[in-house]
Amino acid sequence: MDYIKAKTILQKCKDNSWFGNDYNMNLYRGCCHGCIYCDSRSECYQIEDFDKVRAKENALMILRDELRRKVRTGIIGTGSMSDPYNPFEREEKLTEKSLMLIDAYNFGITVITKSPLITRDIPLYKQISEHSPVLCKMTITTADDKLSRLVEPRVAVSSERFDALAKMSDTGLFTGITLMPVLPFIEDTEDNIRSIVRRAHECGVRCIYPAFGMTLRAGNREYFYQKLDESFPGLKEKYIRYFGNRYECASLNAQKLWQVFTEECEKYGILYDMKAIIYSYKAGYDDGQLSFFD
Ligand code: SF4
Repeated sequence: MDYIKAKTILQKCKDNSWFGNDYNMNLYRGCCHGCIYCDSRSECYQIEDFDKVRAKENALMILRDELRRKVRTGIIGTGSMSDPYNPFEREEKLTEKSLMLIDAYNFGITVITKSPLITRDIPLYKQISEHSPVLCKMTITTADDKLSRLVEPRVAVSSERFDALAKMSDTGLFTGITLMPVLPFIEDTEDNIRSIVRRAHECGVRCIYPAFGMTLRAGNREYFYQKLDESFPGLKEKYIRYFGNRYECASLNAQKLWQVFTEECEKYGILYDMKAIIYSYKAGYDDGQLSFFD
């Protein structure tokens, strides 16, 4: 494992509209899961050699100092620029130890991953949920394992992610799915959306947040097109024809998919509105204001 220097670990969010997060945390830089659509490999983020995972030097010491200095507790989100459960985490245990600190300092956590390794830390998430909100999410973009192997080649297939969600839900943890991206011409079928929502229901998932389309910009666009040529011959030309150089590439079926998605979620009582999701997983907890006299 290579290490890189880090000055800070927690980044304050400009608002808490994204799953109620007050801070973002990345303990690793880069990600080796190889998702063909990954936005984090875009040039604007300047992550050299993106597929190589590096750990942040002294990450836990820095995190502990930052947590200790905060006057207010809050919700820490992790998993947006790199997967906190990359294969190195099994040995490195940076995510595991950060959860111990988050627990000790009474913060809450929302996590996004594609790896069932998250189930190793169920006892820690349960412990944190004793005092603060916890939301454990898996990203799932297709219900078809063969397709997930093509679009997310170096991480657990979708059925294994559903199994991990079921394990977490069974313990009473608040679980969710980020259903994004939904790749145009590849994953944007009604059948796929229905299957994901049904499986989510079977796994006790409480919320799903979707995006019926994807984003493409310099860096990830070239990589994505190269992978399309390898696995989906002819599709690159279709993307170029429909989307040109656009950043937001919405599914041509987005409206219909949204209708199907919301109907299915309503049927099973699964939340999909961001405000409702935030309200629901935070329900029953105080807002984290610390008194000077505590
Ligand atoms: S798991 Fe997330 S960060 Fe890693 S390659 Fe896939 S989309 Fe990118």
